[in-house]
Amino acid sequence: MGELQTLSVMGLPVHWSDRGEHYADWLLLRQQQGLGSHVVTLNAEMAMQADRNPPLKQLIQQTELVIPDGAGIVLYFRLQGKTLQRCPGIELAEAVLEQLRPEQSVFFYGGAPGVAEAAAQEWQQRNPQLKVAGVQHGYLTPEEQLAFQDQLKALQPTVILLALGVPRQEFWTADHRHLCPNAVWIGVGGSFDIWAGLKERAPAWFCNNHLEWLYRLYKEPWRWRRMLALPKFAIRALTYS
Ligand code: UDP
Repeated sequence: MGELQTLSVMGLPVHWSDRGEHYADWLLLRQQQGLGSHVVTLNAEMAMQADRNPPLKQLIQQTELVIPDGAGIVLYFRLQGKTLQRCPGIELAEAVLEQLRPEQSVFFYGGAPGVAEAAAQEWQQRNPQLKVAGVQHGYLTPEEQLAFQDQLKALQPTVILLALGVPRQEFWTADHRHLCPNAVWIGVGGSFDIWAGLKERAPAWFCNNHLEWLYRLYKEPWRWRRMLALPKFAIRALTYS
């Protein structure tokens, strides 16, 4: 498997291989070699957040793997003459889980109470061999948080999925990855809600035409303000120097 190329948008890296599923191979190979990784799934909204939030920008610059999750990122590179395949974070997480061997395990952390359990159950149905190290909802008290960190350290899962939203899941990973230094840490946003059946992904037609954001706006119209990040991103990315 070849090395990943590093491209740049607004001072942020995007790592690229010509086939999205290579990311999962790359992560699991590193994990076998005893190297942990943090995966950031970059979209226009997150790039704009990083532009206003220097600690987030620095974190993304130091992350082992930043994948082109959003249509805005892919369109930006297309204008620069580079054709990237979009890789939604949920699909990368699915590719990683599908490749886990029986002795490897996954931990689901985040979401409202019950959601991580439901997401793990869905995965257990898809693959009864999958070893679920544990589940934890994302609304812990400070005392529960400490006990949870001890639990994670004792379990040493191969993969830790975090559904805490951006940028909470990124900062939590940066602050706690020393607990499981060999793990693959992936911030998956609302993916647990989708696996748990609480939300639906956009139909393939929307995804294939870079319109997943439009479907999301129709389903969750209260997000309209967050979506203004897209046109703002287009202007900022194209004028960034
Ligand atoms: N969440 C959480 N703990 C918190 C705040 C949020 O576990 O303190 C969860 C929330 O329940 C939801 C997810 O984080 O499942 C955020 O999902 P969203 O679709 O907003 O992700 P984003 O678009 O930010 O990636």
